[in-house]
Amino acid sequence: VPIGNVTNGVHLPTWLNGDIATIYDQYLQPDWRDHHADPKTWELVKEVPEGELWEARRHRKRMLVQFVRERVAQQLIAKKASAVEVRRVHDLLDPDVFTIGFARRFATYKRATLFFRDVTRLKRILLNPKMPVQVLYAGKSHPRDHGGKVLIREIYQMTRDPELSKRIVFLEDYSIEVAREMVQGVDLWMNNPRRGEEACGTSGMKAGMNGVLNLSVLDGWFDEAYEGSGCWAIGDRDPYSEDQDDIHANAIYSLLENEIVPMYYERKDESYPEEWLRRMKQCLTSLSPQFNCTRMLQEYDVQLYD
Ligand SMILES: *Cc1c(COP(=O)(O)O)cnc(C)c1O
Repeated sequence: VPIGNVTNGVHLPTWLNGDIATIYDQYLQPDWRDHHADPKTWELVKEVPEGELWEARRHRKRMLVQFVRERVAQQLIAKKASAVEVRRVHDLLDPDVFTIGFARRFATYKRATLFFRDVTRLKRILLNPKMPVQVLYAGKSHPRDHGGKVLIREIYQMTRDPELSKRIVFLEDYSIEVAREMVQGVDLWMNNPRRGEEACGTSGMKAGMNGVLNLSVLDGWFDEAYEGSGCWAIGDRDPYSEDQDDIHANAIYSLLENEIVPMYYERKDESYPEEWLRRMKQCLTSLSPQFNCTRMLQEYDVQLYD
């Protein structure tokens, strides 16, 4: 029996945020929705004014921050927290701060706490007064996955650290609604599984089609998507071994310190970071036609079921 493969895709009309869709209505062909699996449709992304894309991203991040504050407040009220505690949610996250998103099932191979391997270094990154960084987490573990629950507890503990409590938020009760707000609202989507164990990692596709750049291990879909995507890879294509936990954590810290965060905050003549916007356009152009489920269904149809 011959064995082939079809790469997953996500439903673009569901996951694409309304601000960017409105921009596409203006600058792409009017029937772009009907041809979104055609790479030619996306060539016109280069015509979109950078300032408009930047404003769309900023608007989505403000919406995300609002969403997080309301949701955390509801959760606190449900737990009968004090009024003071509930009022404090207004300090949660800052819409002007560079924001990393991490949300998925908490299976242990996804190494959800890799980011905390060197807390001192992490604090230097998150608390840098000139270039601050905040991280939003969400996700559930399988009820019988003890290891996964331990990871959630570790992240929750970090959110209780007085220095980090404004910079790290764990959003409870992960759902499609939470996923949608996150992949549309953050600046960078992080995925750091042990290489070789990720089946796909579809959330990165959802982020990418919203112009959210990926920072990911070269595994699952990203192993196919990385080249030409404008995104960043953690580590190389070696199969997993235990020493990679340190190597990959170091790679994440170094990329954030030396490249990603400074690039995000860089302003020359424009009110937006030019290199960041160049990468965002590259990301939209290369990922949108490829990692949607229209392309996926066409491949099932033609390659497997014909
Ligand atoms: C997309 C999605 C997933 C899958 O994301 P992965 O990156 O493949 O782990 C899981 N849960 C929800 C709610 C999603 O929207």
